[in-house]
Amino acid sequence: MYNRRKFIKVSSISASLTALFASAAARSVLNIQHANYPIVISTWDFGVAANKEAWKTLSKGGRALDAVEAGVKIPEADLKNHSVGRAGYPDRDGHVTLDACIMDEQGNCGAVAGMEDIAHPISVARLVMEKTPHVLLVGDGARQFALEQGFKSEKLLTPESEKAWKDWLKKAEYKPVMNSENQMPGGKYNHDTIGMLAIDAKGNICGACTTSGMAFKLRGRVGDSPIIGAGLYIDNEVGGATSTGVGEEVIRNVGSFLVVELMRQGYSPQDACKEAVRRIIKKKPEAAKKIQVGFLAINKKGQYGAYAIQKGFTFAVCDSKNQDLVIPGKSFY
Ligand code: ASP
Repeated sequence: MYNRRKFIKVSSISASLTALFASAAARSVLNIQHANYPIVISTWDFGVAANKEAWKTLSKGGRALDAVEAGVKIPEADLKNHSVGRAGYPDRDGHVTLDACIMDEQGNCGAVAGMEDIAHPISVARLVMEKTPHVLLVGDGARQFALEQGFKSEKLLTPESEKAWKDWLKKAEYKPVMNSENQMPGGKYNHDTIGMLAIDAKGNICGACTTSGMAFKLRGRVGDSPIIGAGLYIDNEVGGATSTGVGEEVIRNVGSFLVVELMRQGYSPQDACKEAVRRIIKKKPEAAKKIQVGFLAINKKGQYGAYAIQKGFTFAVCDSKNQDLVIPGKSFY
């Protein structure tokens, strides 16, 4: 029976819990006063130019969501970058298919996968988030939605990417190559993703992730990059994480979600990334010696870290002290 005495006990427990939460909230506000933001970090060396663009928004007190969208549009538009956006290497049948996702500080998210003919998949992903009740649109449906929203249809396959594909067709060997730099004729990219995480002046965290996926992939193949929880995850109370590398292994381990959950348990960003990498290696020690996966993470205080299976992973950092810092990620092998 729920008598008066029990009621008093329950109310006093809930009063002490409220006080506990209030003091925890006060403590975290105090911690956050020492936090490093605004800040933006992103995967690989090409993150430097992307961060600089994002910084234009962040340094003016703008929203992290606007910053990450504007930032990743730089590599999406870069014709020299063959692993993201326009000029991305095609699938094995010659179609350039793009994957992207975006997530905001309230846990809203949107994504497109396997989308053709539209140069800025990140902006379409944002509109999926803001204008539809859905999270992910794929293939022709994503393209149709983009056209309805006023995006232009354009040919994404450039003569250079077409030539690389035709060269590849001569041997037609479906073989993802780790790290990608210098693996293609002329040192061009085989696969790589820009994953970007930003904290704005208000302390809100948002992220974006965009790629053309594995070069010469099977038609219809989708990697981790547009999958919320795999290629990108944000929890505004804890931090954010993103990934690059062989997406299949990231999906199998729900990598970015795992990194954020580990940070919630008290892991530093670097240790959380290391543990996520360790789990991939533990499941497939032999395979993991041949492939690359890298994670990048930031916590609510603006502390960041990265870890990869192989050497060679880099990430770019931009904050009020550094505009174009490139840091090598630590690695297992
Ligand atoms: N993660 C991307 C994918 O699997 C490729 C990469 O980042 O290298 O599609």
